[in-house]
Amino acid sequence: MTNPIDKRLAALIRPEIRALKAYHVADARGLIKLDAMENPYGWPEELRAGWQDVLRAVEVNRYPDPGAVALTARLRDALAVPAPATLLLGNGSDELIQIILLALARPGAVVLAPTPTFVMYQMTATFVGMKFIGVPLPQNFALDRAAMLAAITQHQPAVIFLSYPNNPTGNLFDAADIDAILNAAPGLVIVDEAYHAFAEASFMDRLGKYDNLLVMRTLSKQGLAGLRLGVLAGDPKWIAELDKVRLPYNINALTQASAEFALTHRAAFDQQCAQIRAERALLQQALERLPGVDVWPSRANFLLFRPRTRPAGEIHAGLRQAGILIKNLDPSGGALAGCLRVTVGSPTENRAFVTALTGLL
Ligand SMILES: *Cc1c(COP(=O)(O)O)cnc(C)c1O
Repeated sequence: MTNPIDKRLAALIRPEIRALKAYHVADARGLIKLDAMENPYGWPEELRAGWQDVLRAVEVNRYPDPGAVALTARLRDALAVPAPATLLLGNGSDELIQIILLALARPGAVVLAPTPTFVMYQMTATFVGMKFIGVPLPQNFALDRAAMLAAITQHQPAVIFLSYPNNPTGNLFDAADIDAILNAAPGLVIVDEAYHAFAEASFMDRLGKYDNLLVMRTLSKQGLAGLRLGVLAGDPKWIAELDKVRLPYNINALTQASAEFALTHRAAFDQQCAQIRAERALLQQALERLPGVDVWPSRANFLLFRPRTRPAGEIHAGLRQAGILIKNLDPSGGALAGCLRVTVGSPTENRAFVTALTGLL
């Protein structure tokens, strides 16, 4: 006998939602956290007092500025958004993905992306009842231009997501391939530049060139993941339509104040990102020197690698035993079978990781 709540769930919750697993976040308490592409450094000491003064002045009894006007102006400048493009702010770029798809979700509409890629494109497509088409990347994870163009012709996607660089593979797609996709796409193309601070490449300056391009950024990976602030840049006509789907007050007052302060002092965060890029090169070299490890080149703040001598699950568990949390991608299967992803941490964290990994191989 099924109990009454199970019967109600089966009748009411959509089957595709019941089939999902909730986005899993591993418990990192007490561990060196190299699983989620966070900046390891935190707010520079010399900025903390000024930041706390700003926070003290925030009136949390009042709703935040619904249009986040001051912050938006600061972001335009910091992100070098070309006129006449405007901005839409999200509670993380995750929320921007949701806003885009909510606005496009007609019955049968298609979301397309090369795979493997950031899982929220597919998950959010499922949430809103859209169909997701993944176009497999070849072994080197470069875009397969012919396969992408064929899939565009066949599926006429309402939107294509391109993670630039791609998560979890770390590589930067060829800009000429993306241009070809922009020219062929009947719908929107979102270039997701979550790792912009580490890639030093962008489609922002092409915004005026394509009427179907939107560029997405986030402050998360460059050091402000806890604030939850994503930015979508594009033609004012697109942004105005998408803004209708945004919930009022989606950017809370503490985030608005903190992000504005951080952007005013962004040289400090830029310096941290430069340090992470330098550490990425050292970590890459260290992994390349290890026998029995394949490591892919990265333009992001993480490295994808595959141990050849032991199963990825054992390496992942062994590292956790040693107090280090990374991401096991083996369960994703396909091109990611046997793969692990490590975020570039501080020099001490990276050394601890390499030492522990060396012992496990
Ligand atoms: C981490 C990540 C995001 C999500 O960023 P938030 O702004 O923290 O929601 C979006 N896209 C890609 C490719 C990411 O890796």
